[in-house]
Amino acid sequence: MFQFHVSIPPWGAATDPFLLGTLFLLVMTRRSAAGLSAEDIEFEHVAETDQSFENALAKARDGTRLAIDDAVELLTTGTDREEIDLRRKEQVLEIADRRRAERVGEDVTFVANLNNNVTTACNVGCLFCNFKDSAHAFEATSDLEHAGFTRTPTESRRIVDETLERGISEVCSVSGLHPAFALDDEHHEILATYDDPASTVNYKPPEQYSTDPGTYLEQMRAMSLEGVHLHSMTPEEAYHARRGTDWSYEDVYRRLRKAGVDTAPGTAAEILVDEVRDVICPGKITTAGWLEAMEGAMAAGLGTTATIMYGHVETEMHRAIHLKKVRDLQDRTGGISEFVPLSFVHQNTPLYTHGVVDGGASDAEDELMVAVSRLFLDNIENIQSSWVKYGNAKGLKLLNCGANDFMGTILSEEITKRAGGSYGEFRSVAEYVEMITAIGRRPVERSTDYETRRPIEIDGGPYGPTIGPRADGTPLLAPVDQTEPLAADD
Ligand code: SF4
Repeated sequence: MFQFHVSIPPWGAATDPFLLGTLFLLVMTRRSAAGLSAEDIEFEHVAETDQSFENALAKARDGTRLAIDDAVELLTTGTDREEIDLRRKEQVLEIADRRRAERVGEDVTFVANLNNNVTTACNVGCLFCNFKDSAHAFEATSDLEHAGFTRTPTESRRIVDETLERGISEVCSVSGLHPAFALDDEHHEILATYDDPASTVNYKPPEQYSTDPGTYLEQMRAMSLEGVHLHSMTPEEAYHARRGTDWSYEDVYRRLRKAGVDTAPGTAAEILVDEVRDVICPGKITTAGWLEAMEGAMAAGLGTTATIMYGHVETEMHRAIHLKKVRDLQDRTGGISEFVPLSFVHQNTPLYTHGVVDGGASDAEDELMVAVSRLFLDNIENIQSSWVKYGNAKGLKLLNCGANDFMGTILSEEITKRAGGSYGEFRSVAEYVEMITAIGRRPVERSTDYETRRPIEIDGGPYGPTIGPRADGTPLLAPVDQTEPLAADD
């Protein structure tokens, strides 16, 4: 449904060592872009099928396992229509909401959590991301100004310690790929042996930076405190933690698990189709690499989650193929506890500021993405509605489109905020109770892996978390100083 033309990137992407070789980008505008020039090219995967909307809807209604073409018909409300058909959309949403009720009932879950990002230093240069700061600016000899940060393991531990006191049960940690990050001392030694480690394996020794982030294992040990659940090390971070070695993902994740990691976030998935990754994140691991890392995490005994980041350059066919890859992975492993659709927040990202896209997904696309995720992923129990990406009103609406989880309290959120998201960094348990009961559902505090669930008694409050190691039901309050960033997701 989208059209493209080829253009040399007008910004500094080609100066990034990880983007050298990406000599062109597909420049596109969304549905409004009719009549591009003859140079226009199209992705191999476009939203065209031999299926009909009616047949796909009938399969969804019957609970028959959906094929990729079915998902495309449902996501588009029919490839026979130019625009989303609102009547058809409501049919899809209604079936998805019913499937949610059959599968998981009326409970809406959330987790009391903290996001602690270790560093914003990153050289990968993904074009949908405004979280990172060029790692060069963090070097001790640099006089470049930046608004980012790097935390030492000691600082990470202090932040977790203070936040445990507030009652959290989960620490989520996703970070930039700092060139000085290594899995452990042995990894540092291996990386240093490369003739030109800075360009070959994206490595510079910690001494070159103003702040040493420590090793991944040191950071994990620091954040794994008193039985708090540590949700960390995405496939992309795991790649960074083994770069330049022949270590397997399973081996790396085993060592991370021993250092305290409990589950791994399946973020950095973006769109699991390489022709899209080549455009929006050419420096990242491939689709096959992401799947290999996820399987390695699960082989190491870690639970995982999975995501999709949609609403940028991709077509509905890419979204459907992505869902199939996640469903196949779950068929093979059974270790994915939740699926999280993440709508692209475009405002401050290179994709938007350089005119590659002119916006993100529409409300209707968001609703359909959640609904079709519920219908297609028949082997993943929990579908999340992310208030950080969607805000309260739409987030609640999505709980009636197939979602059953409403994310976490998140005492700080940096990634979406830096990309231009404006939905804040914190929701208290009391706010969760108010919002969830307002739509007639039951609020349930959960653990990260959904194994522990505490339905909240509606008795006038006060309401606070009770699952975390130091949680005693005391209300969770907003951080005093929200200008000091504590965290993020991807
Ligand atoms: S998405 Fe992650 S890897 Fe990509 S630039 Fe941002 S912080 Fe770096």
